[in-house]
This record gives sequence, structure tokens and C-alpha cells, in this order.
Amino acid sequence: MSSLFIDNKELESLLQTLQPYAKTGSMPTYIPELNQMNPDLFGCAVYKDEHIVAAGSADFLFTLQSVSKVISLALALMDHGEEKVFSKVGMEPTGDPFHTIQALEEEKPSKPLNPMINAGALAVTSLIAGNSGDEKIGRLLTFIHELTDNPSISVCEKTAKSERENADLNRALSYFMKSHDVIDGDMESLLDVYIKQCSIQLNCKDLARIGSIIGKKGRDPNSGRNIIPPRIARIVKTFMVTCGMYNASGEFAIKAGIPAKSGVSGALVAALPDGTGMGIISPPLDKKGNSAAGLKLLETLAEKYSLSIFS
Ligand code: GLU
Repeated sequence: MSSLFIDNKELESLLQTLQPYAKTGSMPTYIPELNQMNPDLFGCAVYKDEHIVAAGSADFLFTLQSVSKVISLALALMDHGEEKVFSKVGMEPTGDPFHTIQALEEEKPSKPLNPMINAGALAVTSLIAGNSGDEKIGRLLTFIHELTDNPSISVCEKTAKSERENADLNRALSYFMKSHDVIDGDMESLLDVYIKQCSIQLNCKDLARIGSIIGKKGRDPNSGRNIIPPRIARIVKTFMVTCGMYNASGEFAIKAGIPAKSGVSGALVAALPDGTGMGIISPPLDKKGNSAAGLKLLETLAEKYSLSIFS
């Protein structure tokens, strides 16, 4: 694996070259607020050792969506440890889409396959410590403020409302798991925390800093202190490789070999072990739900700078 030495100008020109790939994707429809995003947005930030390179719409605010799953997993593991978390959720990738309910029925006990599919992420969110939904989401936000060094990050209530109105599948997954004793408690409160977690909004620079910390053993680039214990950062990074791109994770590992996680807002976070973090936004999604242009950008950077962790 080599390092990514790129400047603003080169990144800007790469975004311009790859912008047409956004046209090969389409906007998500099941969360109406996401459908309203500008399909031409394309931004990227690269963060390493407190140095940031950014281009395009890198300052634009977007919601985390499934990218939040890596952050909630780190927090739940810090709260409860591996044994407890992995008694509720498995470690295996799936060839099924992210909202699959089928795999839950096939598994006995009905434990979700991994923390990156919605069922698994819901189980993980149920483990975030706190006496109320507000306390749980508050703790997650505080953790994100620390990871980004940006205390202004908050929940986009408009997106949360839109998602709440279209949450039947996630509701079904939660109640199914409750009825099989995988999770317990008040499912409506859990859904509220999960929806807010997905609706946390930030920009590419914030996301790149999160990627950098996950990439480099959980270490804060300013203080050198571990915000995430190294072993947990490694677990999270491993899930990013095996399950980060939904059911396209295997192909992405071959083509790019970069630990990364996508979300239906068109967001992508990448976390390289040398502490290079990347945050990307381009809303149109390919057939498997990954940002079409964002994926192409990561593949192009991986090829050009030999970034694959497998090389
Ligand atoms: N909030 C979305 C959901 O739960 C996130 C899905 C995603 O980004 O993959 O359906």
C-alpha cells in the first residue's frame, strides 16, 4: 500500500473527469428527502495528519445514513465489549441487500448477519448505552463531535421526519428481532434513535477526519490520544472491507481494496491504515445502493496511487 499524495487542483480535476459517472446512477426514492438532493453535488476531502485536501462540494452538508453504522458500532463496542455485541449480531458478509429480512428468518437464532445491514445496525444501536433515546443519540453526537473536532454537528430534523414516515421496513426488522429475543426494549424508541443516527449531518471534511481516525488505530490526530481503542478500530475497519459496500463489497475489495462504507445519501467514508481518511458525497446511486461517482473516484484513486491494503 502506498500513500495518497494529491493536491486540491488534482482532486478538483479528477472530480470533473469523473462527474459523468453520476449519470449512471439514480436518486433514492424510499426516503423522499434524499430524493430532493442535488444530483450534481460532487465533493471529496482527504485528511491526513491534520492536513486537508478538498475539492468540489466538500463543504456541503449531507446526512450520514448507513455510514453512521460504523460509528455506532465503535461506540457500542466501547460501551459493552465484543462478547456482548457479537452475541446480538454476527460477523459474516451477506450477498443480500441491506434491508434484507430473509436472512433473519434463515438464521437460527435470528441474529442479524453483520452490523452493516439494517437489522444488524438496529441491533447495534439498541446497545448504545443510555437511559433514554435522547441520552443515546446525545452520546453518539458527542462521540462524533470528538471524532470530527466539530461540535456543531447535529441531526437534520427534516431528513429524520422523512425517514420516520417511511420506516416500515426497519420497523418490521426491529419487531421481528424483538419477537425472537435478539433485542429488547421499546422498538419505537429504538427506531427513533436509529433514524436520528442516520440523519446526522456533516460534510466531506468531517467525514474524512472520521475515516482518518478509524484508519489509524483510533488515534486523534491532534492529541495523539486514542478516541477509539485500537482493537475496536481494527474490527470496524475489517467490517468496512467485508460488508461496507452492501452486496458489492467483494467486487469493491478487488477493484479498490480500501476499507470504506457507503450510505444511501451518496456518502462514502474511506479509512486507510496510514491515517488517510476520505469523505465523499455524490447522491446518485448505482443498482446496489452505492454512490456511482463516489465509488468510481475511490477505485480511480486506489489504482492511481496503489492504495489497496492488499497490495
Ligand atoms: N436510513 C437508511 C435506512 O435505514 C439507511 C440505509 C442506507 O444508507 O443504506 O434504510
